[in-house]
Amino acid sequence: MRIAIAMMSHETNTFSPVLTDLARFSAGRDKPVSGEAALKVFRNTASGLGGFIEVAEAQGVDIQMSIAAGAAPSGPVEDDCYEYMCEAILKAATQCDGMLLDLHGAMATKSFNDGEGELLRRLRELVPGLPIAVALDMHANITEQMVRNCTLLTGYQTYPHVDMDGAARRAGQLFFEHLAGGFEPTMVWGNAPMLPHVMRQGTDDEPNKSLQARVMALEAQGDMAVSLFTGFPHADIPDAGLSVVAITNGDTAQAENIRDELLDSAWAQREKFVYQPEPLAESLARAEVAADQTEQGPVVILDHYDNTASGGTMDTTEVLAAVLEQGLQDVAVFGFYDPESVQAMVAAGVGNSVTLDLGGKLPMPALKQSSKPIRLTGQVKLISDGRFPATVAMSRGLTMNMGLSAILSLPNDVDVIVVSRHIEPFDPGCFRSMGIEPSSRRYLMLKSRVHYRVGFREMAKAVVECAGCGVCTSDYSQLEFNQVRRPIYPLDGVNANRGDWMADS
Ligand SMILES: [Zn+2]
Repeated sequence: MRIAIAMMSHETNTFSPVLTDLARFSAGRDKPVSGEAALKVFRNTASGLGGFIEVAEAQGVDIQMSIAAGAAPSGPVEDDCYEYMCEAILKAATQCDGMLLDLHGAMATKSFNDGEGELLRRLRELVPGLPIAVALDMHANITEQMVRNCTLLTGYQTYPHVDMDGAARRAGQLFFEHLAGGFEPTMVWGNAPMLPHVMRQGTDDEPNKSLQARVMALEAQGDMAVSLFTGFPHADIPDAGLSVVAITNGDTAQAENIRDELLDSAWAQREKFVYQPEPLAESLARAEVAADQTEQGPVVILDHYDNTASGGTMDTTEVLAAVLEQGLQDVAVFGFYDPESVQAMVAAGVGNSVTLDLGGKLPMPALKQSSKPIRLTGQVKLISDGRFPATVAMSRGLTMNMGLSAILSLPNDVDVIVVSRHIEPFDPGCFRSMGIEPSSRRYLMLKSRVHYRVGFREMAKAVVECAGCGVCTSDYSQLEFNQVRRPIYPLDGVNANRGDWMADS
């Protein structure tokens, strides 16, 4: 038996100006990896492909590794890039007995709101009976097109995503049970008219902690797959938001009951999914108090409006400017995406002084706010090729690639890491590979939202969330939503009954 495995993974922030072309999916190579090379990169890693490969190898099937294309979140995917990836997957579909797909579930392209649904629709059209199992991110925005055109799908149950491989294992195991004739997937889905704020979706916090615990308890009964997707709100598409997919062994009523229970429970707790930002000056004042009260260990200053793993430009300067203005001492910053500034630092050379206009380079037309470069004079402390092995539970075993990187050292012991490839700081390796021990600094300024928790929460003595500037703002009033179904909470206020909203919309 021949099973094809492929990845086409992108979380599209439709408000993001960051270009999403094939180079972004190629991880520093000239095109996305495939075949034996892809097996080598992803086998035994904490990734969706790692999970699929493990399950397929345990079955002893012949594995056909198709394209493994994943890109950091950014704006809508370029059409030629999308067609390149689809073509590779469609070709593999004609040469196999079943397919395991690691998709994200919130991909929008220049031409399609639902990149994954369109791919699955084409697959079904090309090879109608092909069994297809799909693993998705918890931030997937589920559509009818996705559900109708695959055999079964599962989503992550953790955020930070420390079960990317786990979601693939769940999908893969049911898939092989299905192929063996022991499991007949009956899949139902539904969404609630709500856009949970990403900052309130962490599974260490309520309400998602209890919701995902309930999902796992249901699955523990056996013979089913249940996924609650909190969704990705920065995708202005009709189906953005929270949804549930329930799969049982041929029992439609059971699947519908599970779906409705979870949707009702999420809807009842919708206010807990709302994020209330605080003015930046107040947050930084709190950070200083927290640092004064702390013997050792860093206070995390979280610049979460500009998180690259939500499509941020990773170059807005508001929080750094406020940190410098306030005169905070002993700060390590990760990081700024600014290849031009890295080149200027390389030209200046290690140990020499350099004056830069850092960040603020990419206009953000979708945001009712803009960022500007900040002029800084400092010393070039270190230059690196920006590669390090991930060692934390998310992505363990994969090589992280920040591109050519450098440290700009400023007065007051402020070290700013500047990189040439977008990456969210979730693994302390992003500092350690640059010679900085994050746990020994007084402050860590991180451009992250929730994934920093994987590698930094334990060392952090306090975390202060800072409202800066960026296209993953948690202040929805800064964004203009035109395509998402209305009414939707919290854009349109509160209504007591999910069913009424469903009927109205
Ligand atoms: Zn996600």
